[in-house]
Amino acid sequence: MPGKSPAGAPGKAPAPAPSAGTGRPAAAPASSGGSAAPPPGGAAGIRRRLMWIYRTLHAALGPCGWWPGDSPFEVMTGAVLTQNTAWRNVERAIANLRALGLMTPEAVLAADRAGLEEALRPSGYYTVKARRLLALCSFITEHGRGGLDPEVLRLPAEELRRRLLAVSGVGPETADSIVLYAAGRASFVVDAYTRRILSRHSLISGDEPYGDIRELFMGHLAPDVPLYNEYHALIVVAGHRFCRPKGPRCGLCPIGSDPWLSGELKAAAGRG
Ligand code: SF4
Repeated sequence: MPGKSPAGAPGKAPAPAPSAGTGRPAAAPASSGGSAAPPPGGAAGIRRRLMWIYRTLHAALGPCGWWPGDSPFEVMTGAVLTQNTAWRNVERAIANLRALGLMTPEAVLAADRAGLEEALRPSGYYTVKARRLLALCSFITEHGRGGLDPEVLRLPAEELRRRLLAVSGVGPETADSIVLYAAGRASFVVDAYTRRILSRHSLISGDEPYGDIRELFMGHLAPDVPLYNEYHALIVVAGHRFCRPKGPRCGLCPIGSDPWLSGELKAAAGRG
C-alpha cells in the first residue's frame, strides 16, 4: 500500500478479510477472458510462476525501496491515509502533520480535532481518516504505555495483525501493510493491483476473498520479509504504470511475455 508509492497509486480498500491462512489451494485460473489452462505442477508450479513474475518485475523495475516513511509511526499513518487515494495526496497530508508537530501518536491524540481533519484534507475522506488515525493512535498508546512501544511491533505477525484488525477502520490491507512495512514481519499485502494482475495472469479468478489471495502468496512463498516487501511494491509499480483497468499496456510490461497471460491480453502484448 504505500506505494502507493513513490510511483503512484494506492490500492482500493479490499473487501473485508476472511481469516488469512486458510490453507486452501490456489484459486482456479481466470474464467473471464482467460483462455489459459491452469498452471501445471501443483504447488511447485504456482511457486515457480509467482517467483517468475517477481524476478521479471524486479529485474525491470526494482528495487523499489519501500515503504517511504521516516519512522514506523509515519508508515502506520501512511497506511491509514492511503486508503482510496493517490500516494501524492498522502504525502501532502503527512507534510501537514509534520508541520504541525503531529508525528507521534500522543500528539495526534492531543490535537484539536478540526485542525487534525484540516491537515488530513488532502488525503480525502478526511473526517473518516481522522477518526481512523485517532483509533490507531489509541491502539498504539494503549499497547505502548505511552508512545509507540517497539514491543508491539515485535509481536508475532499474526498476533499483531489480529490486534490491528480489531482497531476501528483498519482493514486487512492496512493491517498487512503495517505488519510488513512498519513492524518488518512477514505478512503479504494484497491490493487492487494484486487482484487485477493475478487474474489477468490466470492465477486467480479475481473475485476471491482477500484472505485467499494473501494465502496464495503466503502458502507458496517462504515468509521472507524482504521478498514480501519488494514483491508488493513491484506489483503496485507495475499496476500503476502498465496494468490499467482498461487498456492494459501488456506490450510494454515486463511480464507481457508470460505464457499464462489471459487470451485477449496476449494480443495487447503483441502475441495474439
Ligand atoms: S499490463 Fe498486461 S502483462 Fe502487465 S501486469 Fe497487466 S496484464 Fe500483465
